[in-house]
Amino acid sequence: MPGEDKDNGRTALGETPEKASEEVSVDRMNEIVGLCKRRGFVFPSAEIYGGFRSTYDYGPLGSLMLRNVKNAWWKAMVQMRTDVVGLDAAILSSPRIWEASGHLANFTDPLVDCRKCRERWREDQIDGACPNCGSMDLTPARAFNLMFKTFVGPVEEGSSEAYLRPETAQGMFVNFSNVLQTSRKKPPFGIAQVGKSFRNEITPGNFVFRTREFEQMEMEFFVPPDEADNWFKYWLDERLNWYLKLGIPSAMLRLRHHDPDELSHYSAGTADVEFLYPWGWGELEGIANRTDFDLKAHATASGERLDYFDQGTGERYVPHVIEPAAGATRAMMAFLLAAYSTDEVGGEERVLLKLHPDLAPYQAAILPLSKKPELTELSGRVLSILQPNFMCDFDETQSIGKRYRRQDEVGTPLCITIDFESLDDDCVTIRDRDTTAQERVSIEGLEGYVRGALVKKSEAALTM
Ligand code: ATP
Repeated sequence: MPGEDKDNGRTALGETPEKASEEVSVDRMNEIVGLCKRRGFVFPSAEIYGGFRSTYDYGPLGSLMLRNVKNAWWKAMVQMRTDVVGLDAAILSSPRIWEASGHLANFTDPLVDCRKCRERWREDQIDGACPNCGSMDLTPARAFNLMFKTFVGPVEEGSSEAYLRPETAQGMFVNFSNVLQTSRKKPPFGIAQVGKSFRNEITPGNFVFRTREFEQMEMEFFVPPDEADNWFKYWLDERLNWYLKLGIPSAMLRLRHHDPDELSHYSAGTADVEFLYPWGWGELEGIANRTDFDLKAHATASGERLDYFDQGTGERYVPHVIEPAAGATRAMMAFLLAAYSTDEVGGEERVLLKLHPDLAPYQAAILPLSKKPELTELSGRVLSILQPNFMCDFDETQSIGKRYRRQDEVGTPLCITIDFESLDDDCVTIRDRDTTAQERVSIEGLEGYVRGALVKKSEAALTM
């Protein structure tokens, strides 16, 4: 067996809320930011020019993981259901959409200026004093619209104004009739979309928790009005369970119902799935009962009919909407925070990401023990078996122990080592990320073994 590895137990992030909050310290955030940079998950954007205002680029591993987060959401919300269809609407959008939706008038945050140091803050995020210099001499709050305005075409004039969407949701409302007619769905049914949104946040921060460009995963579920309350409860459960199934410990998740005075103008009820970030509980996803507000607003503004005629009952009605709205980039950060752990292997501290196999950038790493051509050739055969089905890394440099650590640190569930014995017995050694246990497996049965091992690990994630 290549390489000695010993498992001395693991540090799960909190079986109890107290334990979780204790362990998920602010240092944890620095560790994650450092790991993301060091291992190619997330880079500050335009770094060679000194960075650019809280924007980030997703590197080789981050782009894989972010894609996995979005795919996991799409699978649960679209692929595994018969009552939800997909959409990919334009980011660049007509001002008429945002006028009708209320965003032009209402999508604002209260902006205050510090008269002493000139910093600007969101009034609801500070408590009366400037966080930069401590001065209490702040301007009165004024409404600052968060939408990015731009111009379409060569002339910068009023008639060519457009907006980058601040949420994906409106794409679903304005396409309601198109989707209804082409998909032949009827309420209750949903339209799901994953994509970029843009908000000119006054104070972005906490790494990718709040950025001006980010990705959302949203679904608008259209229901008969009298079923809205039940569907709201249904989606609260579904969405909370999605995070649990993907390995976030229950101690780091909670549902928080909004107080009536917190509700958006369109909402008859909102609850947030909250995550225990290093700085405390905060929003991961919002689930709202948006009533018939959006469809009615767009019907009035466009003059188009946006309702549903039920041929069975002869009834015409405007469906109510339940919306689970999640952030893909924010969720990726939460998954990283929850997965980060350390233990001791062979007398040394080891950092590992206990990522769910569906989220880990690589499902397997192929590690030939040496660069000898025979082993490179056999590695090629192993890659050709696994690559069509799994995202694989290939690494033939450094000692095997170091290579295991590198894979542990990025959450690769399985390492597959090819040694000189493999040339004789046509077997490889598979090492498990979490237990470090090793097993000899024939190359012939490799694909099935890997598939089975990943399923087993996925099932175990729920109880982690
Ligand atoms: P907040 O109160 O934190 O500003 P919000 O309630 O306005 O967020 P929603 O409009 O409900 O957020 O957006 C749905 C989801 O999109 C949020 O739960 C979050 O995961 C994500 N999201 C919203 N704004 C940002 C942002 N600036 N950066 C990253 N993700 C975001």
